Amino acid sequence: MGKVTGFMEIDRQVAKYQPASDRIRHFREFIIPMSDPEVTKQAARCMDCGIPYCHGPTGCPVHNQIPDWNDLVYNNRWEEAIRNLHSTNNFPEFTGRVCPAPCEEACTLNLEDAPVTIKTIEQAIADKAYELGFIAPQPATVKTGKKVAVIGSGPAGLAAAQQLARAGHEVHVYERESKAGGLLRYGIPDFKMEKNFIDRRVEQMTGEGVTFHYGANIGVDLPVEQLVADHDAVVYCGGSETPRPAGIPGGELHGVYDAMPYLVQQNRRIGRENIDSVAWAAEPILAGAKHVVVVGGGDTASDCVGTAFRQGAVKVTQLDIRPQPPEKEDKLAIWPFWATKMRTSSSQAEGAVREFQVATLEFVGEDGQLTGVRCCEVDERRQPIAGTEFIIKADLAFIAIGFSGPMKDGVLTELEGKLGVNVDRRGSSNVIANDRDYKTSLDKLWAAGDVRRGQSLVVWAIREGRQAAQAIDEALMGQSLLPR
Ligand SMILES: Cc1cc2nc3c(=O)[nH]c(=O)nc-3n(C[C@H](O)[C@H](O)[C@H](O)COP(=O)(O)OP(=O)(O)OC[C@H]3O[C@@H](n4cnc5c(N)ncnc54)[C@H](O)[C@@H]3O)c2cc1C
Ligand code: SF4
Repeated sequence: MGKVTGFMEIDRQVAKYQPASDRIRHFREFIIPMSDPEVTKQAARCMDCGIPYCHGPTGCPVHNQIPDWNDLVYNNRWEEAIRNLHSTNNFPEFTGRVCPAPCEEACTLNLEDAPVTIKTIEQAIADKAYELGFIAPQPATVKTGKKVAVIGSGPAGLAAAQQLARAGHEVHVYERESKAGGLLRYGIPDFKMEKNFIDRRVEQMTGEGVTFHYGANIGVDLPVEQLVADHDAVVYCGGSETPRPAGIPGGELHGVYDAMPYLVQQNRRIGRENIDSVAWAAEPILAGAKHVVVVGGGDTASDCVGTAFRQGAVKVTQLDIRPQPPEKEDKLAIWPFWATKMRTSSSQAEGAVREFQVATLEFVGEDGQLTGVRCCEVDERRQPIAGTEFIIKADLAFIAIGFSGPMKDGVLTELEGKLGVNVDRRGSSNVIANDRDYKTSLDKLWAAGDVRRGQSLVVWAIREGRQAAQAIDEALMGQSLLPR
């Protein structure tokens, strides 16, 4: 513990943002990094409280050893801090940017509403480590002669690949897209995380012996059966990208889209990639000078809001069928768990109009073009309240109500139909494997990340990739020195 009285003397500070009026003029990250002295001061607030709920079961999913690295940062021991952080998390610069930080909810100082700024410190350690040249390839000194294939290069696939390569295996990552990163690259907008951070890790992993095969759609370009035959182990990290069907009448009108094609297009535009190849969208979708309605209340909906503002939308309204949550949670009933309370994302804070307890009844239009969204208020049981109908003017509407499981085409069709792999039959089609050994019902095939657990978080994908790698290493070698 750095400073025994730190938590009494120092107020919580979080990294500041550029003002909304400035940041909506560009797509770059807008968080103003904290100075080193401020980061070390904030690290001094950690009480090392004995039972570190922050990295316990309700806190950080990868069990980052938060009090330990807070102490190291307070004492300016940045190299040891990144070594400690890397011992649990392959990509802290990703989570330091996009993680919703359940660790901070579980921090003992959150009982007073002033948790340690864990996420900001995590990002600072990773960014500083790059700045000081502490992050370099760590190739295995002994090779095992075993060959492992990873399907998908999202955070789960990348974490699995890095761990397996460091254990000495020959690792091949097969990725359908032209670049690595999965939803980190093509879903999450640049203003939340710029993509050079992924490129740097790909470079590091290439230096560790990982081979990336891009434009390889497994199950279409190459059968999974072939991949399984050619490798000692295959880990399927294909994500969960099928949009949940909304079933809202009028969804066929021009101007109504699922959220993903919109976000993928914009990410490709910024990455100077071809946008014609984005599935489900035959034309550029742009919100400039338009009235935009976003249906849904999660991360994906928020990302549509921020993207629309940056493209010059006149007005963005976000519809949430859930009741407006309370401003504050009942700490003694909820802590150290994640609390349902009123949260405003940086995108919503850019000027979105938020409507709660509102159902979307129909998209309405003229001559095939969307002109508005017909809505009504609902009661606590989500039943329409008579006489409350209203129409919101809309030129563009995005549906962002979640994901129902992996894409059915290609790999999943082959796995389920031809190879008889067990998938969840309760509507999601997630591949069935437990979270101890991540093994599917098919010999030599493992599964990790969203494809197994359903659409989740980057930090959970990293955890699953790491743990699956450890399970595979153990299965191939009889024992494993990889951490879980
Ligand atoms: C818009 C949006 C915003 C989000 N924001 C956040 C956030 O702020 N914070 C957070 O923690 N989480 C966020 N998430 C969730 C997070 O991105 C995912 O949980 C995480 O990326 C899952 O990682 P994964 O590796 O399991 O899958 P993915 O990231 O989906 O990666 C799967 C990869 O597999 C590839 N693939 C699939 N099938 C094949 C095949 N047959 N052959 C070859 N390659 C294949 C895909 O192209 C993709 O690259 C967000 C999700 C979305 C959609
Ligand atoms: S990965 Fe997420 S939960 Fe873990 S320490 Fe970082 S911000 Fe907190």
